[in-house]
Order: sequence, then structure tokens, then C-alpha cells
Amino acid sequence: MRKRHNWGVETPITRLRQALVEKDLPAILVSDPVNVGYLTGFTGSFGYALITPDGGRFLTDSRYTVQAADEVNDLEVATFGTPKSGIDFILDHIQALNLTRVGFEPSVTYGTWESWRDRLSPIELVPAGDLVGPLRLIKSPEEVTLIRAACHLADACFAHISRLIQPGAVEYDIGLEIEFYFRRHGASLAFDPIVVSGPNSAKPHGKPGERKLAPGDFVTLDFGACLKGYNSDITRTLVVSPATDRHTEIYNRVLEAQVASIEALRPGANGRDIDVLAREILDRDGANLSRYFGHSLGHGLGRSVHDTGRLSVSADQPIAAGQVWTIEPGVYIEGWGGVRIEDDVLVTENGPEVLTHSPKELLALA
Ligand code: ZN
Ligand code: ZN
Repeated sequence: MRKRHNWGVETPITRLRQALVEKDLPAILVSDPVNVGYLTGFTGSFGYALITPDGGRFLTDSRYTVQAADEVNDLEVATFGTPKSGIDFILDHIQALNLTRVGFEPSVTYGTWESWRDRLSPIELVPAGDLVGPLRLIKSPEEVTLIRAACHLADACFAHISRLIQPGAVEYDIGLEIEFYFRRHGASLAFDPIVVSGPNSAKPHGKPGERKLAPGDFVTLDFGACLKGYNSDITRTLVVSPATDRHTEIYNRVLEAQVASIEALRPGANGRDIDVLAREILDRDGANLSRYFGHSLGHGLGRSVHDTGRLSVSADQPIAAGQVWTIEPGVYIEGWGGVRIEDDVLVTENGPEVLTHSPKELLALA
């Protein structure tokens, strides 16, 4: 077991400790892998952060002894191996810290909770609510640097694949090329790319299929890179020539809603109002297009593609500097096609800073 501390500097763990004190919780067993990675820097697939107001331990198994020692700086690291079971190992450390009550996260499944309840008894397990998610909402400068790099790679990928958009190209091949591009550049897919053309573009989360691009198609590409644990998420819609007036009219209206929503993303705003604004613009001048916009305007972005927070009519979401959001209005008309335009945006004290820079004027490709 090793001990290294980072006293005096505000870190995700010190902020979580503050939340424990405020909730009067003697400890929390953080098990969500994204939260564990955020708190500790650990990139492996199995580990727990047992955090108390003045200490804590990082617990993992012997596959990760060397890796955890390298990656985890702010907690004591302890590892176990066969014949010890994971749950007995957790119990050893709960007892070593003299804890009788331990909080758990809302992502714990019912099955896991049942086995913990049985094996950890008489330790009292307390639902802690989502304590780490709100911390993840505000990004540190280091996190912003990583998100910026993931956005830069997504832009480079878009420039690369836009050359493939022509009549006869197959949705599958475009999706594969996106994946190749990211892997060739040391990243992975943030999520399975969406490549949908023609009538398929009316499916906001459609999968690439065998369809060949044809003249007059809208083609929607939604993809992102995962680089060093942080994600980007961008959508562009192109048209395979010829573009009709209807293509141009709907595209420009979605673009207008997107640009205005980005502009409204400032400290002190509320995400709910920005979602409403986007819908108002889609409806202006009798266009009446918001009925074709069924999803929310955006989501937080960071360690998860759908990070903490939503920009939605149903979410009271205060906007603050240091948050990173997607802004992605869309219009999807069944049987005809759809448009979505999505950028990643950092909120700063001075207003929004767009992190994705791919062109947004309607590109008609022959
Ligand atoms: Zn997206
Ligand atoms: Zn998105």
C-alpha cells in the first residue's frame, strides 16, 4: 500500500469530500467506472474509490497493481488476488477505516446492492444520490484541453470523410472510414457513428446500412472521437446535389436555431430557456418545424458522451463557466429526410466558445 497526498489543492476528490461533509455521510463507495476514473485518474475497467471526509482508498484487483500505482496519485492503493473475493476485500477496508455507514451511487444495480447488503452486513448501506455527477459538470482547464483535442480530431475526420460523400457511396463504408480515421490517430469511437441518408436521415439515431447515396439526399453524419478518456460529438448534414429550395429552407432554419442557441449559452442562463428558444426559431414565420424536433437541444460532454446535464424543456439547468455542452437541434420529416447540426461548446465567463469548427453552410456535394 502506498500513500501520496495532494493536500491544499482542490481536486475532484477534495470536492467530493466536501459533499460528504455537507450530506453528513461518513464515506461513499464510488463504483461507476466513469466516476472512478474522474476521481482517481485510473483507466482500468475494475476499481472502487472508497472515500471518507479525510481519507480513503482505491481498491482494485491484482491485474491492475502496477497500473493503479502509476495512475492513482491522491489515494492509498490496495489490490487483492485470489482466493480473496472482491466483496470480502471491500469489507476488509470498510472495517479498517472503522466505518459503519457507507453511501453508494445510484448507478449500482439492484442485484449488486442485494449482494452488498448480504455480504457487508451489518454495515449500513446508504443511497448517496449522485454526488460525483454535479462535480463533473464543471471542467478543469486540463479537462478542457483534452476535450479540445478530441474536438480537433473530429473536425479533421469530417474534412477527411466529406470527400467520400458522393452518389453511390455506401453508408456502411462512410461509417467504417470514420472509425479507421480515429483509430489511425490514436483515438477510438466515442460512440457508433450515425451515417444516414435520404429518407433514413429522418431517423435521429439511425444506423449506417447498405443504402447508397443518391442525388437529392440529405446525409447526416454524427460521430465523435474518444481521446485519453474525453469525448467529442459533432453532427453535420450535407446534401448530395441537387439541393432543392426545401432542403435549403429547412437546413438554414435549423442552422439559425443552432447559432442562436450557442449564442445564448452564457453564465446565468438556464438550459430550459435555450431549448425553448431553439423551438421558437424553428416555428418562426409560419415554418412550424418544432413539431419535427423530438429530442432535447443538447447534453453535457466530457468523460461520457452524454455527460452530466441536459439542455431540455424538462430540466432546470443553470449554465455556468467551465461547462461543456452540445447544441444539436434537428428537424426530421418522415419519408423525406432530416437535418441535425451539432457543435460542442465551452461556456466561459465571456460567453460561448465553440470547440468544433467544421463548416456549417449547406454543403451540396456532387
Ligand atoms: Zn452527436
Ligand atoms: Zn450529442
